[in-house]
Amino acid sequence: MIHVNDSKVSPEYRAYLESSKWQEIRNRVLLRENYRCCVCGDKATHVHHIRGKHRFNEASHLEDLCAMCEPCHDKLHLYFEFCDNLKAYYEQKRHEEAKAKGYY
Ligand SMILES: [Zn+2]
Ligand SMILES: [Zn+2]
Repeated sequence: MIHVNDSKVSPEYRAYLESSKWQEIRNRVLLRENYRCCVCGDKATHVHHIRGKHRFNEASHLEDLCAMCEPCHDKLHLYFEFCDNLKAYYEQKRHEEAKAKGYY
């Protein structure tokens, strides 16, 4: 349910992800996005840090979080490890689509 399998996640951050503070922030983001994944529109159960600049202080930076479904979230972290760079993910996706359509 939470992304805690990453080996680069510190024990401190891991504990934070289990805290009620994070659970509350997480619920606010899911509610804001109507439980829709920001990538595919499926039912979202995960919350992803877009730039990850505001770890431990997400409550004042809800714009840095987005709702995602489990498969999209897993895929994102698989491709980008722990960089939390959704923008790069979208750019890459656009490049691939453009390439597939023969724009390059
Ligand atoms: Zn998705
Ligand atoms: Zn994530």
